[in-house]
Amino acid sequence: MAAEAIGIDLGTTYSCVGVWQNDHVEIIVNDQGNRTTPSYVAFNETERLVGDAAFNQVIKNPTNSIFDAKRLIGRRFSDISVQNDMKLWPFKVIEGPNDKPMIVVTHEGQEKQFAAEEISSMVLAKMREIAEMFLDSTVKNAVITVPAYFSDSQRQATRNAGEFAGLKVMRIINEPTAAAIAYGLEKQAGWYCKRNVMIFDLGGGTLDVSLLTISAGAFEVKATAGDTHLGGEDFDNRMVDFCAAEFKRKHDLDVSGNSRALRRLKNACEKAKRRLSFTSSVDIEIDCLAQGIDLYMTISRAKFEQLNMNFFNKCMEPVEKCIRDANMDISQIDDVVLAGGSSRIPKVQQLLQDVFKGKKLCKSINPDEAIAYGAAVQAAILSGNGNGKLHDFTLSDVTPMSLGVEVQNLQLCAENIMHFVIPRNTRVPVKKNTTIYTVYDNQSAIVFPIFEGESESTLNNNLLGKFSLVDIPPAPKGYPFDVWFEIDENGILSVSAEDKSTGQKKGITIASDRSNCSN
Ligand code: ADP
Ligand code: MG
Repeated sequence: MAAEAIGIDLGTTYSCVGVWQNDHVEIIVNDQGNRTTPSYVAFNETERLVGDAAFNQVIKNPTNSIFDAKRLIGRRFSDISVQNDMKLWPFKVIEGPNDKPMIVVTHEGQEKQFAAEEISSMVLAKMREIAEMFLDSTVKNAVITVPAYFSDSQRQATRNAGEFAGLKVMRIINEPTAAAIAYGLEKQAGWYCKRNVMIFDLGGGTLDVSLLTISAGAFEVKATAGDTHLGGEDFDNRMVDFCAAEFKRKHDLDVSGNSRALRRLKNACEKAKRRLSFTSSVDIEIDCLAQGIDLYMTISRAKFEQLNMNFFNKCMEPVEKCIRDANMDISQIDDVVLAGGSSRIPKVQQLLQDVFKGKKLCKSINPDEAIAYGAAVQAAILSGNGNGKLHDFTLSDVTPMSLGVEVQNLQLCAENIMHFVIPRNTRVPVKKNTTIYTVYDNQSAIVFPIFEGESESTLNNNLLGKFSLVDIPPAPKGYPFDVWFEIDENGILSVSAEDKSTGQKKGITIASDRSNCSN
């Protein structure tokens, strides 16, 4: 049997790892006995901690405890979302070379800087270790998941994080695709019939709603919607506010400025919230919360729901938007799949079911494990470890955004025209070519700026990189060049161009920091 290959769901708040073994997916528990591991890395005077160990010391060491690296990975420092997220983090982020965000920590008494992919690589290395402990052997091969809306540079940076962690990243796949695989929905969509599948992924800090069409083993993302700041942590905070207010009412003690008490309360509330998905009321007990006084409370599921009802309702908005954006109607959705730990909340499930007029939801797999489950299935197939059960399984992904090269049209005085080469939703791997012409007589050099996005004007699209051909022999304008775009099965792009008369060839693969790797 080939070496084991694992599937990793690298989440914003929690990560999860699975492996195909003895005819089924095993979700692997970590050294604390948990099936998901906080995506946290902490630095202190003597050591580096990852996962539960990092999460458990946040109170003591807030400025050196790093989380949310997924919100930074493959993005620029000047990116508006980075600028906004920074305001919420207790740790420091600065602008590094090439507009790259760098996380600043003090480790063993020294100031150090880390890129987001380095932090993510530490989380991935932890997930790899968890798998190695369980399998009792070294693990190299992995499939890692990313959100469907991740751009090429975010995907490339995630792949780099995997390689830094010593993994051979067999493939980067979309989270909703992984969730659909987990339910075997691709098997039901044969070669002729299509299935429209909605994935509702409500995690710790984000809501991602995606609509996929599956046919002939291809997963096409029709639309995505969501909220980048809506998830389990918001529900925890509502509970914390409520408990703090009750504590104040009973004991006349205000804990709102006491960060240690608040963190303890938050941990207790998160645990209580999880239990409320299965029972109708829970007790919260914290010894000596403030000034030697214990907190003791009972919270019912009804109270929890009342506290969060506006959040829960807000979760339904992207669902409707996603269906509208895909130009579909509720009746056209064949399956609704739950993913993310917070989709275990019964009220959320009920509201979602109401949107779909009572339709049965796919929830037989633990929602917080569904994505790692699908990644593990994919890893088994790619490594040849899948047996008969996985036989006949074909799978391909599609490009999330259109790709093209910027051209000019001097007659129209237009300089920033997006010349589309690979339209979005093209199945990968793919290789396509186009011809680009010089615009002046005797033009001696030509630049190929590569963009992703849907706008006809590159000004609204995202520059991925550029390269140029020089020393072009004198010729009238309209001198042609062949340009090749190739996307491999991981969704990673390389572009090359050739001057046939001289044999000069140049190209780039798009690297995570968006600088060019010219060759
Ligand atoms: P990520 O957001 O990183 O993808 P998950 O999908 O694992 O992570 O979601 C983590 C969130 O799910 C946390 O806020 C956690 O409290 C919440 N969660 C986990 N289990 C439950 C449960 N049984 N009931 C309600 N919320 C849960
Ligand atoms: Mg997730």
